[in-house]
Amino acid sequence: MLGVVKMRIGELELIEQIRAGAGARRGAGLALGIGDDCAILRPPKGHEVLVTTDFSLEGRHFRRDWHPADSIGHRALARGLSDLAAMGARPMAAFLSLALPDEILTSRTGRRWVDGFFAGLGKLAGEFEVPLAGGDTAEAPGGLVLADIVLVGSAPVGRSLRRSGGRAGDLLYVTGSLGGSAEELARIAGGGELKRGGEHPHLYPAPRVRSGMELVKRKLATAAIDLSDGLSTDLAHLCAESRVGAEVSESAMPVSAGASLDQALNGGEDYELLFTAPPRIKVPPKIAGVAVTQIGRLVRGSGVSIFGAEGGRRALEPRGWEHFRGE
Ligand SMILES: [Mg+2]
Repeated sequence: MLGVVKMRIGELELIEQIRAGAGARRGAGLALGIGDDCAILRPPKGHEVLVTTDFSLEGRHFRRDWHPADSIGHRALARGLSDLAAMGARPMAAFLSLALPDEILTSRTGRRWVDGFFAGLGKLAGEFEVPLAGGDTAEAPGGLVLADIVLVGSAPVGRSLRRSGGRAGDLLYVTGSLGGSAEELARIAGGGELKRGGEHPHLYPAPRVRSGMELVKRKLATAAIDLSDGLSTDLAHLCAESRVGAEVSESAMPVSAGASLDQALNGGEDYELLFTAPPRIKVPPKIAGVAVTQIGRLVRGSGVSIFGAEGGRRALEPRGWEHFRGE
């Protein structure tokens, strides 16, 4: 791992940065981290291993003129953590492959960018005690930053949450609020003033790792998915895998302050959890400190319909976020 490629910011220096900055503390399931030819992971007894991989490509998933470097590091890791959260897994280790263009490797501002990237990634890694256990670096052709992150987690055998576990009659719930990421991105794209302090649902989303683990531990959910592409698209995925339809209600949607209903339904990257539970299960109003809202139910058949706040009912077509399409 971390194969040697000729670099102006030295390869070893970059490896040191990965070691020092990005959650270098040992995770519970990491038997051997960076320094050998492979990492060794040891899941807890009675657990199985879950793996997810996510590309973060400049121009597609982020823009260096819109996203600060630490946001890009944070978001790259958050995507994988959110996938683990969706299945109720505990993060064990992360692996990063990072390709950087010449302009970053050879300039002082580039060095600061790298510092920022690892600061953002490391802060989130520390929050969830997920060590960066290996990776690779290379010089990127074409002037673009490319990051690929692999997340490994564990869950009790046979207990992780799947998209396919929903049944007609199950109630539909979401954590947190929806549309905040799309609203903040629209402000960034429009050159608008960013809120200082407080929450930044687009720049620094909070993956719901603890909520997902709690759903498994307390046996609350029958199916789950994380909201990466937008409710309308991700709910359609869950329905297709569970072979059911769904009905949701406009007035029940937990729309983020300042966001529109359209952003809540179709904006992506909120990284909240959408899950289902039979009506007999008492779902608490908060799970691991995050508010939970019932937004509808699963029904027989296929397709999703939405009840308007002023009555009426229409089809909710999957129109979720497809990143910077057409740009
Ligand atoms: Mg996902």
